[in-house]
Amino acid sequence: MEHRAQLENRKYRNWVRAGLGIKYVKEGLEPFCDHLVNQQHIAILDKVKQKHNLSAVSCGLCDVRTLQPDHVQTKTRQCPLGQMNCNCQHPRGKISCPNKVCGAIYDEIIQLHASTPPAPYWRNTDAKQWCTESWAVAKCFINAPGYEQKIRAVEFDLPGLLHVLLNNIDFQQHIKCAITGTDVFSRVRMSRNAIFHSNNMELDDTDVKSYIDDMIELLEDEMEIKHRQESVTAVKNLQELKQEDFIISTTDEAEIRRVAMAAINEKERELKQTIEDATNELRTKATEGKRKLGGKGLVIKSELEQKRKKIKQEMMMKKAELEQTGENIKKELTMREDESKKKLEKKGKNIEKQLTKKRVETEEKLEHKLQESKAQLESHKNVIESSMTSTAETNKEAETSKKKAGGK
Ligand SMILES: [Zn+2]
Ligand SMILES: [Zn+2]
Repeated sequence: MEHRAQLENRKYRNWVRAGLGIKYVKEGLEPFCDHLVNQQHIAILDKVKQKHNLSAVSCGLCDVRTLQPDHVQTKTRQCPLGQMNCNCQHPRGKISCPNKVCGAIYDEIIQLHASTPPAPYWRNTDAKQWCTESWAVAKCFINAPGYEQKIRAVEFDLPGLLHVLLNNIDFQQHIKCAITGTDVFSRVRMSRNAIFHSNNMELDDTDVKSYIDDMIELLEDEMEIKHRQESVTAVKNLQELKQEDFIISTTDEAEIRRVAMAAINEKERELKQTIEDATNELRTKATEGKRKLGGKGLVIKSELEQKRKKIKQEMMMKKAELEQTGENIKKELTMREDESKKKLEKKGKNIEKQLTKKRVETEEKLEHKLQESKAQLESHKNVIESSMTSTAETNKEAETSKKKAGGK
C-alpha cells in the first residue's frame, strides 16, 4: 500500500493516535515516577543508616546473586519474608555486605514489594549501584527483563514505569485509584500491549476512544498525579488526539512505528527468558532429586517426568507465540510497502531462525538432562537395593547409601 493510501486508512491513523497517546502518558508520568523513586531511595538509605547505626551509607561491592541478606531462614528453611526463592534459603557461598548496607537494602526491597507472593525481579538490578542510583533499586519492582542498563525514568517504557508504581506498596499510597487488576492503571498497561503487539497496526474508532479515555483518567488520578504540570500538559495533548481532524505528522508516525518495533523486540526477549528459566528450573529439580534420593527414587522420577512434560508444553506454547509474532511481522510486510520493509523482513526471518534454533537446542538439552538424571537415579537405586540385601557388605559406598536410605 502506498504511504499516502496508508495514511488515508482511518484504522491505521487510529493506531498511530493510540500509540501517540501512550507516548503522552509516559511523558506525563516520568517526573512523578522520578520523584517517588528518589524519595524512596533516600528513605531506604536513612532506614539502613539507623538500623546499623552508620554515619554514611555506601558500598558498591556486593553482587545480588551472592549477597547474604540481613534476615535469616527459619529452622524449617523457610524465608521469614515469605519469599519462594530467596538468598536466605541458600546461605552457602553467600557473602555479607562488608559495609552492612546491601543486606539491609535487600530486605527493604522485599518488604516494599506489593505483589503476592512478593518477588522482586533481581535480574534487572546491579546491587553495586544501590547506594548511588535510585532507579537501580526501583528496577527490582519491574518483573520483566530488559531494564538492566537503564537508570533514568526517561529510558524506561510505559510498562516499566507502571510496574514500578503498581508493584511497590509505598508508591500505591500516592495513587488514589485502588489497584485491583482491572483498575485504570492496569487497563492502560494492557492496552499499551494490545496497541504495540497489534497484528495489523489498525484500531477501530471505539477502541481508540476508550483507550484514550483511560489514559486521561489515569493522568487525572486525584491524589497527586492530576496536580502535576506534566500531567496537565499530557491530558491536553490527549484531548487533542481525540479530535477527528487531528493531523498526524510523519515524525509522529515514524516514532510510533519505532516504538512498536522496540516493543516486539522486547517481547521476544521476554519469551526467550521464559524458556531459559524453564530449562534452569529443570536442572535445579534434577540436582535436588539426586540429593534427596534414598528410597524416594521412583517418586522423584515421576516428578521429573511430569516436570519435563510441563516444560515441554510451556515451550510449545511459547514457540507458537513467537511464531505468531514472526507471522504477524510477515503479514505486515505484504501489506505495507514503505521503507522499513527490508528491515522488518530481516527481523522476521531472524526471529524464525532463532526460535527454531532455540527450540531444538532447549529440547536437546532437556532430553539429555532427563536421560542423565534417569540413569543416575537408576544407578543410585541399584546401589541402595543391593546394600539393603547384603548385610555383610562393608564397602564405603554401600554404607553411605544405606545411611541415606535409612535416614529418610
Ligand atoms: Zn528470605
Ligand atoms: Zn554491600
